[in-house]
Amino acid sequence: MSPEEDIIYVHSVAEAYLYLKASLCRSCRKGSLNPKADLTKTAAAPGGWMLSTVCSECGAAATIHFCINPPPTREQAHSQEINPTPHRSSAIDLLGWLTLFQAIIEASQRETDKQAARELAYEAALCLDEAMKFYDGDNELPAEDAFFNETSRRRFRDNPQQFARSKWRERRLKLPDATTRTIPAGPRRPRRRWWQFWRGSAKP
Ligand SMILES: [Zn+2]
Repeated sequence: MSPEEDIIYVHSVAEAYLYLKASLCRSCRKGSLNPKADLTKTAAAPGGWMLSTVCSECGAAATIHFCINPPPTREQAHSQEINPTPHRSSAIDLLGWLTLFQAIIEASQRETDKQAARELAYEAALCLDEAMKFYDGDNELPAEDAFFNETSRRRFRDNPQQFARSKWRERRLKLPDATTRTIPAGPRRPRRRWWQFWRGSAKP
């Protein structure tokens, strides 16, 4: 594969980290990918952004190249926002978003710090918003193009009801909405990045 073909197209810095969480190591096909450093903007990388990772199982190092469109401002690069556009993700498929949603909502329920738990619930809600973009019109079930690989497609064919839109819409209604989200006032405390809250937690 040429480097050009190996660029992952995402809509935000957050989506790039979520892509990592939704992916498996390409060497052993078992381990998850942990970031070795922050996602870095560099003209030297194909796509403009790069992230060095290491596999949790076999220790293989890999550098993933991203193109982020729309290009994030400094503020957006630190936000949890996943996708400011109406377009569906081309990096993470429907199964990926639903798996991320479940992993993040479980991390939120385990979290003892209230603010951190709220932030995770919000991030989980955003993952469901992305999942909803894979349903066309009023269809209750997604089309096959909502799945990006054979493993995902098989999961869908074996258990289509797991992907029923109404079920996920109901879950979404119980979660915080972007428009009603309150940003706590007061002095800013040193904070972890949200994607570190659930690092090493449930595997996809
Ligand atoms: Zn590996």
